[in-house]
Amino acid sequence: MQQKTRVRFAPSPTGPLHIGGVRTALYNYLYAKQTGGDFILRIEDTDTTRFVPGAEEYIQETFNWMGLSFDESPSKGGKYGPYRQSQRKEIYKKYVQELLEKGAAYIAFDTPEELEKARTEIPNFQYDASTRHHMRNSLTLSSEETESLLAAGAQYVVRIKVEPGHEIVVHDMIRGDVSINSSVLDDKVIYKSADELPTYHLANIVDDHLMEITHVIRGEEWLPSAPLHVWLYRSLGWEETMPCFAHLPLLLKPEGNGKLSKRDGDRLGFPVFPLKWKDPSSGDISSGYRESGYLPEAVINFLAFLGWNPGTEQEIFSLEELIAAFSFERCSKSGAKFDVEKAKWFNHQYILRLPDNQLAALFMPILEEKEIKVTPEKVTRIVSLVKDRIHFVKELWDQSAYFFVAPERYDEKTMRKRWKNDTTEQMQQLADLLRGIEDFSAENQEHIVMDWIQQNQFHMGNTMNAFRLAIVGEGKGVHMFHITEVIGKDETIKRLERAIQLIPTLMENLNKL
Ligand code: GLU
Repeated sequence: MQQKTRVRFAPSPTGPLHIGGVRTALYNYLYAKQTGGDFILRIEDTDTTRFVPGAEEYIQETFNWMGLSFDESPSKGGKYGPYRQSQRKEIYKKYVQELLEKGAAYIAFDTPEELEKARTEIPNFQYDASTRHHMRNSLTLSSEETESLLAAGAQYVVRIKVEPGHEIVVHDMIRGDVSINSSVLDDKVIYKSADELPTYHLANIVDDHLMEITHVIRGEEWLPSAPLHVWLYRSLGWEETMPCFAHLPLLLKPEGNGKLSKRDGDRLGFPVFPLKWKDPSSGDISSGYRESGYLPEAVINFLAFLGWNPGTEQEIFSLEELIAAFSFERCSKSGAKFDVEKAKWFNHQYILRLPDNQLAALFMPILEEKEIKVTPEKVTRIVSLVKDRIHFVKELWDQSAYFFVAPERYDEKTMRKRWKNDTTEQMQQLADLLRGIEDFSAENQEHIVMDWIQQNQFHMGNTMNAFRLAIVGEGKGVHMFHITEVIGKDETIKRLERAIQLIPTLMENLNKL
C-alpha cells in the first residue's frame, strides 16, 4: 500500500509570517490534499532568543483567514503531538544521547573567546574534520576530563560529526538530485546545554521522522541546510524513511534583483505580510493583505502562480482546481518575481466573481460608518453596477457615492463644457418629461428620453452630460438610466431641479472671474 502523504509547515515564531511563507504553506496544502494526505502545522520555537510573542497566534489567524486548515496543529492536536518544539525537549535529548553514544556526535566545550581565537588564527576557519582535533571537545579531551567538566556543570554544545569524503545526495522534486561532498560541511551545533534545547537542524529532523513526514516542501533558503539534514538522517539510521525534498523558488523583488523584503513593500506600497502586524517591541505597524482589502481566494490564486504555472492559459483557479492541477514538475527553479499589479488584477477578478449580495455585505459596514440608511437589496443592485470598476471593496464608496448622496458641488470643467445657454430650459423640460413616466425602469426611461432628444434635435452629448452633471455632480458614473432607476423618480427630479436652480448662478459667477 502506498504510504499516506504527510507534509508539514514548520514556521519559527520570530515575527509576522512573510507572504513567501504563506506560499510555502499553500504548496504543502495543495500537495497534501491532492494526494489525500495530511497537512501539519509544527511550531519551531527552539531558538528562544528569537521568539516573538504573538507570532504563533498570527500564524494561526492567517490560515483561518485563508481557509487552509491543518489536520494536526498545536491548537488542534493530533496523535504525533505536541506540535510545539519547546514542548518536546525530552524527546530531542534522547536522540542527542543516541548520537553521542554512536560516536556520530561529540561534546564541545569551546568558549566564545576560544572560537573567536580559532577564527582569527586559522584562515576560513570552520569547525570540521580538519580543525576539530585542535579544539576543546570530547574528541581531544580524555573521557575523565570530559566527565569531570560535565560533573562540574561546564556549559557545552553537542556537534554533529560530519565525516569527510562522503557523497551526499539531496533528492529534490523540483531541482532533481543535488549532490555535494561532505567535506564542505561543518560540524554544526545540534544541542546547547545552556537552554537544554536542540538547534533547528536536529529538532527539524527528529520531528520530521517521528511525525512520519513524507515530503519536506520549503523555501529555497533551506537548500544549503539540506545536505546536513541528509547527514543527520544517515547518522540516526533513518535514511530509509527520509522524506523527499522540494525547495521552492525564492520570491523576488518586482524588479527581479534579490529577495522580496518588507522594505520593498513599504517602498512600492503593497503588503508583504498576510495580516496587519504590530511589532510588540517597537510598536511599528506593517500592513497586511487582509486589511488592504484582498480576498483570501485572490491571495491564494496569486500565490499559487508565484513559482508554479499550469502550463495552460488558465489563470483563475479555485482552491479545488489548484489542488487538482498542482505539480512539482511545473514548479520553477528560478526565483518568482513579485507583481503587485497582478495581485490587484486577481483581486478584481475575484470581486467580479463574488455573488452581488456577498459583495454588498462587505460594503455594508462602510455605508453604516457613513450613516447611510439603505436596504441590502438596493446595495446589491448598486454593487452589481459598479463592481467592474474596482480592485478593492474599499473603492466601492468612491465609485458609488452618487447613488447615496446628491451632489454637493458641480464639477467646474463639466459645467463650462456642458451647460450651454439653452441647457437650463432643456433640463426643465427633461424634469417634466421624467415626472410623467410611470414605468421608471432604465429601459423605459431611456426609450422616452432618447425620443425626446431626437424629436427636439438636441445635441445628444451635451444634453446627456448636463443631465449627468445634475445627477452625479461630474462627468463620471455608470450608465445614466441605471443611476436614475436606482435613485428613483423623486430623487432624480429633485436633483435636476436643484441643478437648474444652482448651476446658472454658478456659471454667471464663473464667467465674471
Ligand atoms: N523553522 C524553519 C522555518 O522557519 C523550517 C524550515 C523547514 O521547513 O525545514 O522556515
